[in-house]
Amino acid sequence: MPNYVFLGPPGAGKGTMGAILCETYGNIHISTGDILRAELSANSPLGSQIKQCMEGGGLVSDELVAALVRKRLGQPDIAAGFLLDGFPRTVPQAATLDTLLAELGLKLDRVALIEVDEELLVKRLVGRRLCPTCGAIYNIFFSPPAATDRCDTCDVALTARKDDNPETVRNRLAVYWEQTAPLIGYYEAKGLLARVDGSGEKAANFAALQATLGL
Ligand code: AMP
Repeated sequence: MPNYVFLGPPGAGKGTMGAILCETYGNIHISTGDILRAELSANSPLGSQIKQCMEGGGLVSDELVAALVRKRLGQPDIAAGFLLDGFPRTVPQAATLDTLLAELGLKLDRVALIEVDEELLVKRLVGRRLCPTCGAIYNIFFSPPAATDRCDTCDVALTARKDDNPETVRNRLAVYWEQTAPLIGYYEAKGLLARVDGSGEKAANFAALQATLGL
């Protein structure tokens, strides 16, 4: 099974497209943001170490994230193909990934760069609301619930991710352009990069992704 990396700014839809891809083709979805958020909500020692950094929209250390990815890629189910979502996010992380894959006898087949205009990204992030009970995702601009700030199914108050407030979003985007965008050239030089338009509706974006990946 092919192995993929999804690259793109916060709000581009890496998580959403990743979930559909993995459900459709059986790849193992590895989202470093999800792994780190699970540590935060479990209040683990690692969670308290990374809390401030994540809530401010900064990056957790390369070493820490690389150790988490190393552990996950070493599991046997990875033979089904993996999808890395949110990793690598810096050039040193990409170099570590190259080493790690070589050690494990794995190879990267494609890096999909999901592209979306900045104005739309901000609305997607700042407007995002989650149901704490069923996990449904809404957006106050594009897909609002029927009753303001309440889940259509569970009728409980919706919440927002702490790092989706306007100030932190600005910081996350700045961090992306400064530290992650250099990976575009890194993977272009390796002939692995494929650009996908992520600015449409979910189904259209996924169709574009399938076409780009030859699926
Ligand atoms: P995400 O869900 O991918 O937007 O990630 C949420 C937050 O988790 C980021 O803003 C970072 O603080 C942290 N994070 C996720 N992946 C990485 C990574 N590869 N390197 C460093 N920090 C990360």
